[in-house]
Amino acid sequence: MIFQKIKGVFIDGKKDLCKKSPLKEYLSPKYVYIPLLQRTSNLKAEVKVGDEVKVGQVVATNEQQMNVRVHASVSGKVTAIKKVWHSSGKMVDAIEIENNFQNQLTESIKREENVDSLTREQLIKKMELAGITGLGGAGFPTHIKYKTKAKIDTVIINAVECEPYLTCDYHFITTYPEKLLKGATYMMKAADATKVVIAYKINNKQIREAVQPFLPKFPHVELFPVKNVYPAGWEKFIVEQVTKKTYNGLPAEAGVIVNNSATAITFADAVEMNIPLIARPISITGEGIKKPGSFYVPIGTKVSELVELCGGYVEGLDPLKYNYIAGGPMTGRAIFIDDLVVNDTLGAVIVKPVIEGLHPECLGCGKCADVCPAFLTPTEIKKAFERKDIKLLSDLNANKCVECGLCSYICPSHVEITEAVAKGKDLLRKGAK
Ligand code: SF4
Ligand code: SF4
Repeated sequence: MIFQKIKGVFIDGKKDLCKKSPLKEYLSPKYVYIPLLQRTSNLKAEVKVGDEVKVGQVVATNEQQMNVRVHASVSGKVTAIKKVWHSSGKMVDAIEIENNFQNQLTESIKREENVDSLTREQLIKKMELAGITGLGGAGFPTHIKYKTKAKIDTVIINAVECEPYLTCDYHFITTYPEKLLKGATYMMKAADATKVVIAYKINNKQIREAVQPFLPKFPHVELFPVKNVYPAGWEKFIVEQVTKKTYNGLPAEAGVIVNNSATAITFADAVEMNIPLIARPISITGEGIKKPGSFYVPIGTKVSELVELCGGYVEGLDPLKYNYIAGGPMTGRAIFIDDLVVNDTLGAVIVKPVIEGLHPECLGCGKCADVCPAFLTPTEIKKAFERKDIKLLSDLNANKCVECGLCSYICPSHVEITEAVAKGKDLLRKGAK
């Protein structure tokens, strides 16, 4: 394959809205709602209404699909199984737990006495038991990546967070820099690799300043600044930058495993304290939020409570003139905030003004193809999708779209081109079965 270098595009970050205030903890909501959906896995509830649960207790599983397990994020009583909005844009069943505010921990949460002697297999088992998933948005069960048979030499920690508005990874790293290095080191051992590279955006010098003082204790870890462009946080972009290698399928082909920084920090707690994935950082931000901020919250927290903690919406906000987005503005989904709950992949909720003056005719300028990091021709894919031409979708490599949103962002005519390409990719996937 001819190696084509991914360029990326500079995008106004809008991160200052949220960046200056520190990460706040909001650990005791009155109720949490644990979604019975993780990525594409429907989960089976392992508890019923009326059961008492402790923090860290397994409450839902899917043993058929990658042995997914999900844990209670507060202690208390299961009061209902009810529908809530999920960041996937669907309503899903969720286990409602009423918090008893006693923070009773399940028996398995305790300090690990033999951290340094844990084997690769034991570390991977801990990932699995703790239900660790990719907190950067992918939600893929982490232990599956580490069971690879490929020879891995480098674990790359993705601390790039390249989409505009998002700052939860930034806040999590600058609050817990040593935990990041510990979690990354445990990942390196779990991969049988010899080094860790933490990739961050060059303009985020605060990340370097936070991590650097701890580096002497972690000589196998290095910091790697990447350009301030989008999509610099895309796995393939980072692997290319760090290793000068590319791949077709998975980063393991280039001898690499990539994990998000929040996943590494969460894994440090799983290794040292046997704490499963029960909480995550999230940014509540955008021009429509009075005091944007980042929070560390239990999985299942209602987003509306976090909006209240931000002082609510700006005065006189006209809901019709704002978009409510779960996730980043480039890759997220339109949602209803009030019933949305925090799940493992939800790193942000954004309230931003609607773009005025939509004019959806294609001008044929070719800018979308110029910026596409996967080297696709989005307009041709859109046409192939509209004609339901599976063969052409395949010839145009629609399956290579990473849904980064850059084609829509760059389009001077505001054509919803990403959506059309994503639908074409989906049609190709279904048609190819
Ligand atoms: S950027 Fe927009 S207007 Fe230009 S070719 Fe692509 S879809 Fe058409
Ligand atoms: S959304 Fe897909 S087609 Fe559009 S720029 Fe990104 S990778 Fe290319």
